[in-house]
Amino acid sequence: MSSRILLLVILVFVHILTARAEGQLDQAFNLLEQTKTGKEELANARTQKIPIELGRVSKTDITATRALKGDHFEYVFLTRVIVDQEKGTVFQALDLAHELVHATHETSNPFDPTLDAASYVKHGIEGEGGEAEAIRKECAVGKELVDSKSTLQITAEAAQLIKVRCQFVWESESNPSRWTQSFYFLGHYYREFMKNVLDLNVSESAKQDWLSKIDRKAPIFSSAVAHKPYPVALLEEYVSITHDVCNRAHSSALSRSIASLSLLKQRCSSVGIEINP
Ligand SMILES: [Zn+2]
Repeated sequence: MSSRILLLVILVFVHILTARAEGQLDQAFNLLEQTKTGKEELANARTQKIPIELGRVSKTDITATRALKGDHFEYVFLTRVIVDQEKGTVFQALDLAHELVHATHETSNPFDPTLDAASYVKHGIEGEGGEAEAIRKECAVGKELVDSKSTLQITAEAAQLIKVRCQFVWESESNPSRWTQSFYFLGHYYREFMKNVLDLNVSESAKQDWLSKIDRKAPIFSSAVAHKPYPVALLEEYVSITHDVCNRAHSSALSRSIASLSLLKQRCSSVGIEINP
């Protein structure tokens, strides 16, 4: 086969796969639309014009660009939702319900010079549009699908899988302390997380606050992107963003107009980067 024909065959194949995947996403939309919770979320997403695409893993992608507003720079956040193309319709609908919670809530600025690691992780889990709320909504949709499986044509197998995924949530969400605490179960990530916290250049009392919260019990909830419990994934994210912001502040005079370098000094120092305003 000549290379041109081969390329054509590959392109046709890719096209067929894409068309099939997009049709599948339509089915997930339809399913979500038929639940009360999902319908409200989709309406919010439409109002906010949030793009929804297929991809390798379900996630909410937020990119920040700096735009000149008057005489100063401001961050503009662009949000899009990606849905795992390999999943079946029911689980795409649940993932979509989860991601739309993240996507439709205002993003707090991760580059805020005064933002500390503890607040970042706490907000990412317990805050508005955080993981706890996203999982609660995802399982609210799951409950509606299971309860009305005859009308929405959910297979018995899918209903069973939703129950496995959501049973703990349905049982514990009404008990706020048990529910919130379950996000801090770290299992074999406990030591890694403890080390990461102890490595932070923050006050002893701040470290003790963290360590009083985490638990060695087996993790119940983990990030699909990082494959780690949320506190571990969020702390890594914070350290990575902070490195990025501080290294840029080091090298770019422009940054002086975004944030006060003296405010940033403490944030940078917490991850071991010393800057001199
Ligand atoms: Zn999430």
